[in-house]
Amino acid sequence: MTATRAQFREAFIEEVRAATDIVEVIGEHVALKRRGRDWWGLCPFHVEKTPSFSVSAEKQMFYCFGCQTGGNVFTFLMKKEGLEFGEALRLLADRAGIPLPKADLDPEARRRQEQREQLTRLLEAAVEFYVKQLEQAGGRQARAYLARRGLEPETVARFRLGYAPDAWDGCLEALGRRGWSPEMLAQAGLVVETTDARGERRYYDRFRHRLMFPIFDLTGRPIGFGGRVLEGAEPEQPKYVNSPEGPVFSKGRNLYGLNWARDGIRRAGHAVITEGYTDVITAHQAGFTHLVASLGTALTTQQARLLLRYCREVVTAFDADTAGQEATLRGLEVLKQTGLRVRVAMLPDGKDPDDCIRSFGPDAFGRALENAVPLVEYRFRRAMERQDTSTVQGKVRVAGEVVPVLAGLESAVEREEYLKRFARELGVDPEALRTEVEKARRGQARGQGRGRPGAGRWKIPAGTDKLAVYRHNKEEKGNDGKKLGVYRAEQQLLGLMATDPGVARRVAEAVGADGFSDPAHRKVAAALFAWANAGGAEGVRPALLEDDEAAQALARATFSFVEPPDRDRLLEDLLARVEAARRYKRIEELEGMMRERERRGEPVPSELLRELADLVRSAKGRGQPARGPGAEKR
Ligand SMILES: [Zn+2]
Repeated sequence: MTATRAQFREAFIEEVRAATDIVEVIGEHVALKRRGRDWWGLCPFHVEKTPSFSVSAEKQMFYCFGCQTGGNVFTFLMKKEGLEFGEALRLLADRAGIPLPKADLDPEARRRQEQREQLTRLLEAAVEFYVKQLEQAGGRQARAYLARRGLEPETVARFRLGYAPDAWDGCLEALGRRGWSPEMLAQAGLVVETTDARGERRYYDRFRHRLMFPIFDLTGRPIGFGGRVLEGAEPEQPKYVNSPEGPVFSKGRNLYGLNWARDGIRRAGHAVITEGYTDVITAHQAGFTHLVASLGTALTTQQARLLLRYCREVVTAFDADTAGQEATLRGLEVLKQTGLRVRVAMLPDGKDPDDCIRSFGPDAFGRALENAVPLVEYRFRRAMERQDTSTVQGKVRVAGEVVPVLAGLESAVEREEYLKRFARELGVDPEALRTEVEKARRGQARGQGRGRPGAGRWKIPAGTDKLAVYRHNKEEKGNDGKKLGVYRAEQQLLGLMATDPGVARRVAEAVGADGFSDPAHRKVAAALFAWANAGGAEGVRPALLEDDEAAQALARATFSFVEPPDRDRLLEDLLARVEAARRYKRIEELEGMMRERERRGEPVPSELLRELADLVRSAKGRGQPARGPGAEKR
């Protein structure tokens, strides 16, 4: 996986940031014009006609007043290009000509990084070797296969397809001559290590007489290979041989073709997942540049997260052979759980994308993608196809497959719509189906834990101000249940802190980072405290939080900060509001504890009552909550 921030020393990150001008970097993606102190342009993160996207050279941050996306140069690249922090850092370091600091890594991490770099160089050499072999006489069958598949020379070159010669030592010999040891080749998965009868180690080529598909990571570095069998191979050879899992290759963490499909996916707004290398290549050649392939495993959460960098929706285009059906469906549930919308394309005659494009043409494939159906619908269709719905048993079986899927739908409207339609098509009473679905829903809810705590009402202990508690409960949660008042106060406070290390130190003393209720605000506060403690020098100003949420929160706080007429008064006021919010939070906790004890029939300890009474009294004494978190305007 890519390096995290923890693997790089602050000094290196700072060096890269200092050598980078945010206006220049963003200027390569967005046309910027200077207006006042900042630069302005059309926001790349939402559609707009008048510029509300601003970049500040002084703050080294960007912020969009339209969609409120903001951050630093790292977060810009992470969002715009779908990179992780380590990748963005590497890119900017390269751009600035700063070498990656191996010395900064601990010895073990350094060893691993060197090993990965070496393996990447070796794999690159192997890609070149196989590509060259494809052009040689031995590659005749592979070339014939590619021609039959209708793949053009430009496509073959773009995807860097190759040929593994029909020999036990083709790759071993050729790369050995270039200085690569058999041990390294084995580590890269290119050769297999065995022990012979005399107990000596032997090596032989893993890929023999195969069409080679190099697999690249997101940034285009080779990480492994898939090799497809060709005519004339020894019988009983598997159709595909893949690189084994190793230091650089992990099937579950990569998707074939994503390095070529990134832009296409972003443009289309969705990705198409298929199974085979040739599906991806044929589709890209036909202009469907948003296809990727799973690497022969059930889809994983990591793969879903990779896709989430570029889109919110996935269309699957697997061939409909029943063997892989259940595994496929489980994989789709994984995608759904990470928040991707999933639709299933039903390809004509159950073919795979490659066959579909070659037999029916690109238009038919495009239509199948457009007509892809939601997962629930797909499940229903599959069940209907498999069962004989003219019999009662057949209907019961279809219902049995569809009920848990319907029960899993969160939206009641959606659930009801499908329920009615499925009941009609299946020829059963919708009431009966509804009963089953409701039963399944109750079962699912139980499976998810205890549900809501006892509804027994907590009696406010004598001596506390009932009105204050009531008012607090009502006011802290605004109309929409969001704690907007506190959120704004915290935002203003952070904006104020960022202008003055003295203010930051004062806030650290008064409330600390834990005093902030919003998690992103807590992170920003902690970073600002660290900055203030380090003397508040401009250079270490924490404009480089790689944490997406925190960077955005800092940008929002500093760009929306307006210099007040009276700084000290604003500071005291904001501190009081943040403190009040924290007090209310504690009151809520105490209430919860009491309710819980009451539910279990246990006595409420007097310390709890005393603390609650104190808190409520001090809230009242300070004139809160009238000016508290519920109050929007100062
Ligand atoms: Zn925007």
